Amino acid sequence: MRAVLFNKPFDLSLTEVDEPTLVEPTDAIIKVTATCVCGSDLWSLRGENTRGHGTLIGHECVGEVVEIGAANSRVKVGDFVVVPFFMSCGFCANCQAGVLGACLNGAILGSGVGAGQAELTRVIFADHNLTVVPGGRPADSVMPDLLALTDVMGTGYFCAVSAKVKAGDTVAVIGDGAVGLSAVIASKMLGAERIVAFSRNPERQALAREFGATHIIASRGDEAVGELMDLTNGVGADAALECVGLGPAMETAFKVARPGSTVGFVGVPHGVSAPMEIMFRRNIGLAGGLAPTLLFTPLLLDAVLAGQINPGRYFDLQLPFENLVDGYTAMNDRTAIKAYSIVD
Ligand SMILES: [Zn+2]
Ligand SMILES: [Zn+2]
Repeated sequence: MRAVLFNKPFDLSLTEVDEPTLVEPTDAIIKVTATCVCGSDLWSLRGENTRGHGTLIGHECVGEVVEIGAANSRVKVGDFVVVPFFMSCGFCANCQAGVLGACLNGAILGSGVGAGQAELTRVIFADHNLTVVPGGRPADSVMPDLLALTDVMGTGYFCAVSAKVKAGDTVAVIGDGAVGLSAVIASKMLGAERIVAFSRNPERQALAREFGATHIIASRGDEAVGELMDLTNGVGADAALECVGLGPAMETAFKVARPGSTVGFVGVPHGVSAPMEIMFRRNIGLAGGLAPTLLFTPLLLDAVLAGQINPGRYFDLQLPFENLVDGYTAMNDRTAIKAYSIVD
């Protein structure tokens, strides 16, 4: 089969590799219908994480079950499924507590177990991890919405839930990538009254508005903080959602969060530290981390299929699978928000 191979930083290629096989009776093999590049794949592209050279990559895909291990009973061959980027077991102590990302038996797809940017992938604990799309394979136009559910939409939703967004809130969303835009959608779903999107990019501002943002702040740093404070009579946002993972975004989140609130954070942190003094003096908490997106997939899938949310709108670059690696460059140059391919 063909799969994207990470050769070394700034060098990925579509390569012929061995097909995956069932290893455990709890496994499934998925024929990938659609896959995409994640913002967090760019850390690998740039050599800013520990990914080994010559490894399969990709953790966002949807497709059809073509082989199923004997220990599964819920998922069947022929089911069209959403694969979560993090595969958990469902039965360990951490899974039982809902902290799926700390699963004692789990793995991120494409980190040595399976890979999303491939024609076939192995999925572990299939019965627990796969969300079946009712009605089978949907139209290709729906694939971006379903791909969003594998990671970014669930991650944005988890950010909003972690920051305790509730009806009537004013929410500040820091970050205008796919996760930030998902956090806008999530805030609206949770009943936020005012959603302030921090973005300097006109196309992303327009998408944020389409998704429910009521205000846009296009300035940066203290000027942006001042604008948010003006909107909230100097009190700050009821919830601040940090969807980037870099120091300046975290700083802004804490500066605009009202005393007593919780900052939600879901961006993979790179060189970020928490401002303990502000957290102490203003009683601000921090919650989030690696998102247990699977917990939200059924709810979000229902919303997608009912036409209530349309996160696929931020997939702005469709490439033939042969050229999916070009999507890395486009996203790294910020000329695309999210690149995807219909594989088959
Ligand atoms: Zn991802
Ligand atoms: Zn577990």
